[in-house]
Amino acid sequence: MTSTISINDNQHLALEPLEVPNRLLLGPGPSNAHPTVLKAMSTRPLGHLDPAFLTMMDEIQSLLRYVWQTENPHTIAVSGTGTAAMEATLANSVEPGDVVLIGVAGYFGNRLVDMAGRYGADVRTITKPWGQVFNLEEISTAVATHKPAILALVHAETSTGARQPLEGVGELCRQHGTLLLVDTVTSLGGVPIFLDEWGVDLSYSCSQKGLGCSPGASPFTMSPRAMEKLQKRQSKVANWYLDMTLLGKYWGSDAFGERGYRTYHHTAPINLYYGLREALRLVAEEGLANCWQRHQKNVEYLWQGLEDIGLKMHVEKEYRLPTLTTVCIPEGVNGKSIARQLLLEHNIEIGGGLGELAGKVWRVGLMGFNSRPESVDKLIAALGTMISNN
Ligand SMILES: *Cc1c(COP(=O)(O)O)cnc(C)c1O
Repeated sequence: MTSTISINDNQHLALEPLEVPNRLLLGPGPSNAHPTVLKAMSTRPLGHLDPAFLTMMDEIQSLLRYVWQTENPHTIAVSGTGTAAMEATLANSVEPGDVVLIGVAGYFGNRLVDMAGRYGADVRTITKPWGQVFNLEEISTAVATHKPAILALVHAETSTGARQPLEGVGELCRQHGTLLLVDTVTSLGGVPIFLDEWGVDLSYSCSQKGLGCSPGASPFTMSPRAMEKLQKRQSKVANWYLDMTLLGKYWGSDAFGERGYRTYHHTAPINLYYGLREALRLVAEEGLANCWQRHQKNVEYLWQGLEDIGLKMHVEKEYRLPTLTTVCIPEGVNGKSIARQLLLEHNIEIGGGLGELAGKVWRVGLMGFNSRPESVDKLIAALGTMISNN
């Protein structure tokens, strides 16, 4: 082949095969993937319409229903990270002009506000200082005032470490014909969730936090009520990639009355689905109750360890998440430099504060495979020495 154009070698790197440092990921996510999950992810890809692959997708759907405790027919994985599944819930449920009421008590509440606005929602908010949660009365008053088409709440606010109680919320939403949308990104697999019991209509999560997989395949579910709203839309879903009426045909959801009929929409990230399937299988093997208990037990061990080295937690005990703890940075301590030292000298990643909590807290995650006493021991040993030397 001859060409008069010469190849530009400016960016032509000669690299060694990839090697990455061995970090313990105790930040707000990602967490370390389980070794079994990593092994599954390095398996050879199948075609995305291969019957063997479709069977595996069915398994993912069932196990997602199990971990979420829902019977929603339309329960799938979205190709993309948690944010893609988050956007999918709003893209499919919001029609321009719909009133969407959002509980904002942290960074992810604000992200919901931004996204809902982009889909033309008439957004109303209720707010709380970061680290606190809404009580049922506050939610009830707001729903009665705004009569929203959708109420959106963050179950586990990763920016604050607070768990929003959901008991009773679904019931009051039904009284007002409101759909309940809940972010379960940092709760799925680590915090008790009873989606159907709680009357949740739309929810999304991710693979790289409580489920212990790599990021990129994100749980999504919608109730028959949410499905009805989707099917009655006057306007098309404004996002082609995330349109559940199209995706339902690939996932073969009963909800679309086309069981067995599976058609191309986009090429699934095959190996990520392997990883998600394996991560879910591991949760099922452990048993959901045991899995939740393990997260609770290990986080209590963490809180004790942190208190023993003189540190305080930001959130009131009753509302603390088992998956993510916000730790107050003591007066006179440089939080950023400690986190950097932990990473570079001890191979432990923790997170810093966002928004109202910037510079005030560290965020420590114990999620999925990382929710083990050894993770706590390593962190407390390293952090304890640094703080006493500070
Ligand atoms: C991590 C997170 C998200 C976003 O998920 P990505 O996988 O980072 O896209 C959304 N909501 C909450 C509460 C989260 O913690």
